[in-house]
Amino acid sequence: MPFDIGIPELLVVFVVVLMVFGPERLPELARSLGGMVRDLRKTAADLTRDFTAEMDGSGAAGGPRAVCATCGGLNAVGQAYCGHCSAKL
Ligand SMILES: [Zn+2]
Repeated sequence: MPFDIGIPELLVVFVVVLMVFGPERLPELARSLGGMVRDLRKTAADLTRDFTAEMDGSGAAGGPRAVCATCGGLNAVGQAYCGHCSAKL
């Protein structure tokens, strides 16, 4: 579990939140917290996908590219063979 938070700590946090915001605002609070977690996960997934694509050399974003002389396809610099037609670069 992140931050090493156990059940007792969660209970303390819950009670403090309950006292600060009051029971009637809890659903609204939980909703916005859920939205924040969702956004965070989406951002993390986007970053992971971009990073993986970049490492594969299939990323659409910038960076140096080598043009294949045979098929004209774009490949990551440093690749020995074309990813499109398998010709030697
Ligand atoms: Zn090619």
